[in-house]
Amino acid sequence: MIVLLDQDNVLADFEEGFRVAWRERFPEIPPLGPQQRKSFSLKLDYPPEQHEMVQSTYCSRGFFRNLPPVLGALEGVRGLIDAGVEVFICTAPLRHFEHCVLEKFEWVEQHLGRRFCERMILSRDKTLVDGDVLVDDNPRIHGVRTPRWRHVVYDQPFNRQLNGVSRMTWENWREVLL
Ligand SMILES: [Mg+2]
Repeated sequence: MIVLLDQDNVLADFEEGFRVAWRERFPEIPPLGPQQRKSFSLKLDYPPEQHEMVQSTYCSRGFFRNLPPVLGALEGVRGLIDAGVEVFICTAPLRHFEHCVLEKFEWVEQHLGRRFCERMILSRDKTLVDGDVLVDDNPRIHGVRTPRWRHVVYDQPFNRQLNGVSRMTWENWREVLL
């Protein structure tokens, strides 16, 4: 079995990392908490006059490298590998790729080891990537192909409006994936 794991908000905690980085840059404006997040696009949850500030925060040098791991994610990856699953990371880099692309590799090297970087697939179109399962917090994944993989939604507050889908966290991954 091939399992494709999205990186942000499945392995790397983009949401928490953003709140930390935002507080450092704009201490006078509290960041949105998890329960205030309604849209997959973080920027769209902030008022239009703050969109530039949101983008400059996650496009800054060091942002992606310093994201904390999602709770249980690193243990989950090891558990999948131990269960004989072929695990790949399938991640769509930002259009502003300047720091993001390199730092995504640096994050994987730091948390999963350099050899795991061989298992990184960077694509803005995940339907082109083959696999049995894609675990992704994005509730709507579109592209030029009809994918062979089954989409398992990684549960996040902003994707809970989507019903009738297979859903997991690193607490229940065994029941969902194995
Ligand atoms: Mg994601």
